[in-house]
Amino acid sequence: MRISLNKGAHWRATHVIMAGLICAISGSAAWQAGVARVDITPSQPVWMGGYASRTHPSEGVRQHIFAKALALKDDTGAVTVLVTSDLLGFPGEVSAPIFTRVQQEFGLPRERITLNSSHTHSAPVVGDMLSPAYPLGDADRKVIRAYTAHLQDQVVEVIGKAIRNLATAELSFEQGFAGVAVNRRRVGHREYPGPVEQDVPVLAVRAPDHSLRAIVFGYACHNTVLSDYQISGDWAGYAQEALEKSYPGAIALFVQDCGADANPLPRHSVELAMNYGQTIAAAVEQVLQAKMRFVRGPLTVAFVSVNLPFQKLPSREELESRTRSKDALLRRHAELMLQILDRNGKLPDHHSYPIEVWQFGKDLTFIALGGEVVVDYSLRFKRQYGFDQLWVTGYMNDVFAYIPSRRVLEEGGYEGGGAMIAYGQPAPFTPDVEEIIAQGVTSLVARVQQK
Ligand SMILES: [Zn+2]
Repeated sequence: MRISLNKGAHWRATHVIMAGLICAISGSAAWQAGVARVDITPSQPVWMGGYASRTHPSEGVRQHIFAKALALKDDTGAVTVLVTSDLLGFPGEVSAPIFTRVQQEFGLPRERITLNSSHTHSAPVVGDMLSPAYPLGDADRKVIRAYTAHLQDQVVEVIGKAIRNLATAELSFEQGFAGVAVNRRRVGHREYPGPVEQDVPVLAVRAPDHSLRAIVFGYACHNTVLSDYQISGDWAGYAQEALEKSYPGAIALFVQDCGADANPLPRHSVELAMNYGQTIAAAVEQVLQAKMRFVRGPLTVAFVSVNLPFQKLPSREELESRTRSKDALLRRHAELMLQILDRNGKLPDHHSYPIEVWQFGKDLTFIALGGEVVVDYSLRFKRQYGFDQLWVTGYMNDVFAYIPSRRVLEEGGYEGGGAMIAYGQPAPFTPDVEEIIAQGVTSLVARVQQK
C-alpha cells in the first residue's frame, strides 16, 4: 500500500514535471515565424523624397535599400505580417492596392498587415507623396510611377516569401535606450519643451536552437542625416547593416516610431550617419545579450479608420491668387488643389486615418499609427498603458501628413500645420486631432485586450 502510494506520488510528481515541460515547450513553440527581404534599390536615377531643396534625380547608390517582411503565425493559425522598408513613406494610394492583393493572394485580412517606412530621406519618391514639394517634370513622374509599380510587386512578393518561410520560433521583447534623437522644434525655438523618446524596443525572433532569425527594432527619429543625391537607408540603414553583420543569418527590420519632431543632431555627414547607425545597433545588441521576456500569443488585432477634419478650406479665389505667388511650393499646392476642385467639385474636408493595434497575449501591445506622428502621442499612450509592454509606432500604412498633438498644433510651425502645403493637404487639422486619435486608440486597445 505504502509502495503503491509512493509510486502514485512519484507518478504524479513526474506528471507535473512533464506537464511543466510541455507548457514550457508549447509556450515557446506556439509561434511560427517567417522572414524575408527584397532589394528595392532603384535601377536608374530617380527623384529622391523628403527635401524640397533637391533639384535633380539621384546620382548613385551609397547603400542598397530593402523592404523586409516578418510573418507570424500564432497557435490559432492566424497569420499577421509586419513590413518594414527603407523608404520615406507608403502613401495610402500606394499601400491600398498592396492590402487588396495580399488579401486576395494570401488571405491576409486588412488588420493583419501593417507597412512601416523608415522615413529615410535618401530613397525614391513613391506615388504622389509630397508632390507639391518637388519640381517634377513628366519624365521624372514616369520614372517614379514605374518605380512605385515595381515596388508594389516587390512588397507583395516579399510578404509571400515570409509566409512561405514560416517555421517554429520563439519571440521575446525588451527595450534599451539610445540618445541620438533631439527634438528638432527647439532649433529656432530654444524655449520650446523638447520631449524625445529614447526607448529602443526590440522584438527578437529565435529558432528552436536559439539562433536569431529576425531582429525587429524601433526608434523615434527622422532619417535625415544625409541630404545629397546618393540612395541609402541613412542611419537606420547602417544600423540594420551592422546588426545583420553581427548576427549572420538574421534579418534586421527597423520600425520608425513617433519621430516626427525628432532629428539626429548634429547631421549632414556620412560619418555621422554611420555613427548613429552603430549607436542604435549597439543599443539593440545590448538588449539581445541580456535577459528578454518571452512574448506569447495569441496575436489579437483590431483596425479602425477615424476621420481627421481639416480647418477652414481655401476658396477657389484664394487658390487662384496663390497660383501667382512667388513661392513655387505654394503655387504647386494651389494648382493641385484647383485640379481637385475641378475634378470633384470640392476639396476633402477630412482625411480617413488608419489606426491598428496588435496585442501579443498579455505580453506586448503594438500600436501602429499612420502619418508622421509627433512624440507626444507615444508618451501619452505610454503614460496611459505603461512603459514596459507598449510599442507605439508611426509612419504606418498611409504617410500623408504630419500628425501634431494639440500642443504642437497650437505652437504652429512646420509639424503644427505648415507641412500640409508640401503634403498637398487643403488645410491644417482641427485642434481636436489628438483627442480623435486617442479615442480611436483607446477603443482598439480595449477591444484587443478584452479578447
Ligand atoms: Zn518627416
